[in-house]
Amino acid sequence: MRLKTIVLIILCLLLGVGFVVWKSQTADAPSFRPESNKTTPAAVKPKPFDKTMYSLTNPASVWVIANKQHPLGPKEYVPADLVVPNVSLRVPGNESMQLRQVAAGALETMFSAAKSDGIAMTLSSGYRSYTYQVNLYNGYVASQGQVAADTQSARPGFSEHQTGLAVDVEPSDRTCEVEACFGGTPAGVWVKAHAYEYGFIIRYPTGKEDITGYEPEPWHLRYIGKDLAFELNRTGVTTLEEFFGISGGKSYVD
Ligand SMILES: [Zn+2]
Repeated sequence: MRLKTIVLIILCLLLGVGFVVWKSQTADAPSFRPESNKTTPAAVKPKPFDKTMYSLTNPASVWVIANKQHPLGPKEYVPADLVVPNVSLRVPGNESMQLRQVAAGALETMFSAAKSDGIAMTLSSGYRSYTYQVNLYNGYVASQGQVAADTQSARPGFSEHQTGLAVDVEPSDRTCEVEACFGGTPAGVWVKAHAYEYGFIIRYPTGKEDITGYEPEPWHLRYIGKDLAFELNRTGVTTLEEFFGISGGKSYVD
């Protein structure tokens, strides 16, 4: 009996020691993982930007491209989530003071960041329905003729203001309101440097008139989301047409 007890105790001790040794080895195991990762460098390589993440043709897509060669889509399109952003508004109560929810939130954040830098800005024009654009465009045609109108205002159905993702901004003191000289104001300089941080781009940049089809509009911003805005900033590409290889230009598609 006594021998059996001793053998049993020794067996238990051996099992116990064995368990402790096994436990300490498995606890060390995670520290070997980085070693094994060294053999697969592809796993740590940054992924190339996915240009197919969102549609370029669906009017409800944040990446939709509307230009003189690519109408927005059905003229009755109305975004489903229009809201009035909580910012300074040029024409309170007007339909053009609305934006898609995601763009409105980004504008609020951007305007408050600008304010922290001492720059007060106002929303000049956001969403415009097809009918609103008909009246606006016809007004330009009546006063300047169609050729001049086409350089300054999109024809109805071709304006990205109908997406609820485009926004005209201006200094709250109205300096250079919707004029080329806006680009030289503190607000214009700030927007050019910082808009991308909030998911916006200057949609009609200087020097790209033949690609976008429009004279430079330093006040006209377009919400495209931070992913794409940061990628454009990183690569130095300034138009959606160039980045995605989409045709644009000054003449309207028939
Ligand atoms: Zn505009």
